[in-house]
Amino acid sequence: MEKVNVSVATRTALAATAAQRWHATYCDYKGYGPGDAERKVEIGRQLDELGPAPDPADVDRIIGNDSWTGTMCEICHRNAGWVAVCRGDGGPDIEVCDRCIVMLYGVLKSSGPVE
Ligand SMILES: [Zn+2]
Repeated sequence: MEKVNVSVATRTALAATAAQRWHATYCDYKGYGPGDAERKVEIGRQLDELGPAPDPADVDRIIGNDSWTGTMCEICHRNAGWVAVCRGDGGPDIEVCDRCIVMLYGVLKSSGPVE
């Protein structure tokens, strides 16, 4: 079996790292069009002002969307508030909510062992 790491992502935890991730993403950003790079710097400044434990809603408001705090389940496409993040060797992260994990387990369990 490949090495698999599983962690939990929550909106609160993602909000707490949003400013750091924002700066890492846009530190060398040149911008598209007039004022774009400056706008990214201003967003970073406002995120810094929120401090170490920001409300996710404030992060979303400053950035203009919830993509930096989003916990979107890849199965049901619900912003669940928390998801299990599964990382396999070399593959993309897979983010699944608690409801879908229970549903999947139920389907597997009801089908019985295949072997
Ligand atoms: Zn789901």
